[in-house]
Amino acid sequence: MNESTDVLVVGAGPAGLALACGLLLHGVRVRVVDQAAGPATTSRANLLHARGVEVLDRLGALGDLPERSAQGLVLTTYIGGRPVMRIRFGDPILGTPRPALVLPQTEIEAALRRRFAELGGGVEWGTGLVDARQDGDGVTAVLGGGRTVRASWLAGCDGAHSTVRKLAGIGFPGAPLTDQWLLADGHAGFGLGREGGHGWAHPDGPLFVMPMPSPGGTGDDLWRLMAYLPGATDEKLDEAEILEAFRRVVGERAGLAGEQLKDLVWASMFRVHRRLATGYRQGRVLLAGDAAHIHSPMGGQGMVTGMGDAENLAWKLALVVHGRAGHRLLDTYQAERRPLAAEVLRSTSATARLQIGDSPLLRLLIRWVLVPLFNRPAVQRRGTMAASQLGVTYRRGPLAGRGSRLGRRPRPGDRVADLACAGTRLHAELGGRWALLATGPGARLCEPQVSAALGDRVVTLTPDGWRDDEVWLVRPDAHLAWRGRPGSDGLGRWLRRASIHPEP
Ligand SMILES: Cc1cc2nc3c(=O)[nH]c(=O)nc-3n(C[C@H](O)[C@H](O)[C@H](O)COP(=O)(O)OP(=O)(O)OC[C@H]3O[C@@H](n4cnc5c(N)ncnc54)[C@H](O)[C@@H]3O)c2cc1C
Repeated sequence: MNESTDVLVVGAGPAGLALACGLLLHGVRVRVVDQAAGPATTSRANLLHARGVEVLDRLGALGDLPERSAQGLVLTTYIGGRPVMRIRFGDPILGTPRPALVLPQTEIEAALRRRFAELGGGVEWGTGLVDARQDGDGVTAVLGGGRTVRASWLAGCDGAHSTVRKLAGIGFPGAPLTDQWLLADGHAGFGLGREGGHGWAHPDGPLFVMPMPSPGGTGDDLWRLMAYLPGATDEKLDEAEILEAFRRVVGERAGLAGEQLKDLVWASMFRVHRRLATGYRQGRVLLAGDAAHIHSPMGGQGMVTGMGDAENLAWKLALVVHGRAGHRLLDTYQAERRPLAAEVLRSTSATARLQIGDSPLLRLLIRWVLVPLFNRPAVQRRGTMAASQLGVTYRRGPLAGRGSRLGRRPRPGDRVADLACAGTRLHAELGGRWALLATGPGARLCEPQVSAALGDRVVTLTPDGWRDDEVWLVRPDAHLAWRGRPGSDGLGRWLRRASIHPEP
């Protein structure tokens, strides 16, 4: 059977689901296949930073996740049993109404699946991609069982071992970064405060204990445990052995009573790698999420980066599918997103090395230089802002133009805050649409040009206190496309730079 679609998304993790929701919001036909028999049941990530929460909001997928999130937005570090450093990830520092969520990845994925279903989509489980061949018009994908699907575009959101990436011949250079980590979610009565996570620096390697919301909201004794095992071989321990190892390690490294760890609901071991795809696009094949970049999970950058890729790609792919933009627009996806992933690899690798602290000299540096530094509110604000990805900007990207180096903020390429607009919020109106921010006279001058280029997926809004001489065009991913005076020819120049053309 040969079934056709505009975009075939391979992989129903956070990146694939966010991309699929975004494409449906833009009126693109999409199919999502996943080789797994059904949704993943293991928690994996437990922190979604603020920018990822904004993506969920713009996609209409946030629902009641904020109410269900644990409030563990503080990390206390102990050395020699004494608390020496507290890092806060909370909203007072960031000034955002959408702070980070402390929830298992399963809940983020479930929220995205619900939204995908509301929009008319459905994941085809038990359907792995085994082969793909592209030609000038599209891609023929072969699924398990020999079924073929013809798609105009193929999006590889199939994780670190991406089949799509390999079939497209895209390199994934990098290297292992650490030895093995032990990982588990378990019920425990350690007597630790649940207002945040706890980390112990220790010569044998660090130990982290972080509160997890219990599935269904019952009980308050579920914890995420992570311990580094320097020098450990690749031998995999089973769940009972991991439980025993944790009971020993929490005593040795943190002075906690090991027998208070009652049971485990999930256990695993992993080794950290850092790898970055050599390209995000090969003809009609695109990559997003872990298929394009992997790094240390410490710092919680995986989902937020993958969902950011998806949001950036969705509107560009939609314009190309609808024939409103040239393929060149898709090259701006890699130009905007790959430098960010490279920075995430750099920062998470540095954090992982510091956390491991695997030399006496490094441990001295951490104790006497870095700890006092990180206790400073200004340093914490910068670190938290960077981790949140709220400050991500595409100012240096190909769409920003020269105006991005000058003038008032936000500049072209910057994220636009969630402005109040006469009874609504800017971000609530985006996702599947662009926003023209203007008062009546400015709107009347710009609307015809914008609708000729972008069709009916544009909403005109007037933010509270807006000036008559300002017009902004905001992209569906909340980045500023262009700002200027009503009637200026800069808007047309921006549309041409993006290779978005007016309908004939
Ligand atoms: C221990 C741990 C802790 C972490 N903690 C955090 C955290 O706190 N915060 C955070 O943001 N990130 C964290 N991460 C990283 C996060 O889990 C990943 O970045 C995220 O899952 C990547 O999402 P994705 O959609 O790109 O890929 P994945 O979630 O890997 O999804 C890929 C999907 O593709 C499917 N697939 C694979 N091959 C095929 C094929 N050939 N055909 C069809 N389907 C296929 C798979 O079945 C899977 O469902 C953590 C990771 C680990 C391991």
